[in-house]
Amino acid sequence: MKYPSEPFRIKVVEPIKRTTIEARRKIIDEAGYNVFGLPSESIYIDLLTDSGTSAMSDKQWAAMMIGDESYAGSRNYYHFEEVIRDLTGLSHIIPTHQGRVAENLLFSSVLKKGNVVPNNSHFDTTRANVEHNEGIAVDLVIDEAKDPTNLHPFKGNIDILKLEALIKETGKDNIPLGMLTVTNNSGGGQPVSMQNIKETSELLHKNDIPFFLDACRFAENAFFIKEREEGFSNMSVRDIAKKMFSYADGCTMSAKKDGLVNMGGFIALNDKKIAENIINLLILVEGFPTYGGLAGRDLEAIAVGLKEVTDEDYLSFRINQVRMLGDSLTENGIPIIQPPGGHAIYIDALGFLPNLPREQFPAQALTVALYTHAGVRAVEIGTLMFAKKDEETGEVKYPDLELVRLAIPRRVYTNMQMNYVAESLIDLHKNREKIKGLKITYEAPVLRHFTARFEIIE
Ligand SMILES: *Cc1c(COP(=O)(O)O)cnc(C)c1O
Repeated sequence: MKYPSEPFRIKVVEPIKRTTIEARRKIIDEAGYNVFGLPSESIYIDLLTDSGTSAMSDKQWAAMMIGDESYAGSRNYYHFEEVIRDLTGLSHIIPTHQGRVAENLLFSSVLKKGNVVPNNSHFDTTRANVEHNEGIAVDLVIDEAKDPTNLHPFKGNIDILKLEALIKETGKDNIPLGMLTVTNNSGGGQPVSMQNIKETSELLHKNDIPFFLDACRFAENAFFIKEREEGFSNMSVRDIAKKMFSYADGCTMSAKKDGLVNMGGFIALNDKKIAENIINLLILVEGFPTYGGLAGRDLEAIAVGLKEVTDEDYLSFRINQVRMLGDSLTENGIPIIQPPGGHAIYIDALGFLPNLPREQFPAQALTVALYTHAGVRAVEIGTLMFAKKDEETGEVKYPDLELVRLAIPRRVYTNMQMNYVAESLIDLHKNREKIKGLKITYEAPVLRHFTARFEIIE
């Protein structure tokens, strides 16, 4: 079978409503043509993010019932610690309530002003936490990643030569750690090869620089390695994941992704001194180190989720569901970033709506049209999110790509529902000349995409 069918059956259902076009026109107008302003009950298929939107399994729900809510020494913490130690081989396991807190605690413990942190591509919260601690976040992803049509199998790889040059130029003492994000979220969910992880680790270690993984989607990355990298087709995804972690001195993780839970995260690392510093900060901002901002039951659900996520039937369904959506769009002439990544499909809005000028927010216009037409919520990653205005000249600098992201929650939607999304987009594409541009009527000074309001240009 080209695309495997669902490796689960449904035990609990949550009804979702299909509203009418007329109702959606009114709702999106009230929301100022910004999908962040929509009540989620007005949405039929919600592809805003894959973060914290997973469906938990029956075993995870059962695990919630053995939550031990003791302030200190909860049994669930010991299970959580055991599962993460077994997976990562790392010694100190520190829970946090989500990924960005792990980043914040790590960087405030190791960064000094002016320090440089290299990464394939920093995720936005990672970059923000580096910069908040007065560090410099440098992205060194390979050039192939910048070409949306390039079919390189590991477009998340870091450019080793650029990394080497950066270490020479900056001096190893100014680099407190180097990172790789697996899969590379900001680069479209593209995987990093084992070879690249190994070479990065060796180069950093040769210079006495610790190596960390931003491990949010480690299982999806491991699946791609099994599928695409020479020498791994007979190794289990679990063992591939363990091998990935074996090169690292530590990791940060948002369990809202490959932890298959709705909230949670952790830091894991070998350095005892740094771990102690982090734990002291943790007590100040999150809580005692055996719960770290989570309930005992949450820790238990993560422990179970981290075991389930390397199940190969699950991963094969997951990766192929995303691929199936990408393939149906491609076969129908809709331009997307190739090849499809692990957790999302990115539509090239400039190719979809070639007649809309950048100042009319083509990706936002397509996002609004998709909601209005089909009740599907995607998200703009383009002019609205990234354009910068020069304060003196008033000139606007547009980002290279103008994208609409369809992020697929884990174990939530069926392939039939993904078909519905594809068909809605194909329909819209056929009638693309009817899609109108937008004009901004309100914007906040920072992170404007969350609250901006628009009107349609008639
Ligand atoms: C989501 C994410 C984070 C941040 O995690 P939160 O749980 O949202 O705080 C960090 N890095 C990557 C790659 C992510 O995808």
